[in-house]
Amino acid sequence: MNRTSLNYGTFVPAEQQIQLQPEYTSGSMAAETVLHELLHAIFAVATVQVKQGEEHIVSVVATYLAQIIRDNPEFVIWLQRTVGR
Ligand SMILES: [Zn+2]
Repeated sequence: MNRTSLNYGTFVPAEQQIQLQPEYTSGSMAAETVLHELLHAIFAVATVQVKQGEEHIVSVVATYLAQIIRDNPEFVIWLQRTVGR
C-alpha cells in the first residue's frame, strides 16, 4: 500500500508483484518506494503480523532481506546507484 494517497507503488499479493511508476522525481524516491513495497511483500509472503511482536518480526524480515540481497546482486547494485540520485 501507499504512504499517502499518491500512488507511489503497490504490492499486489495475488500476483506476487511490486508495481511501480515508470519514473520518480528522484532516485531516493524510487529506492524508498521499492524498499517500502519490498517490505510489504516480505510481510505478506512471511505472513508477518504486528501482533507477533517486534523481535519476531525483525528476525523474520532480516532473514528475508538477507535472502533477497543474496539472490539479487543486480538489485543491490541498482539500489546503491539509485538511492544517491
Ligand atoms: Zn505501504
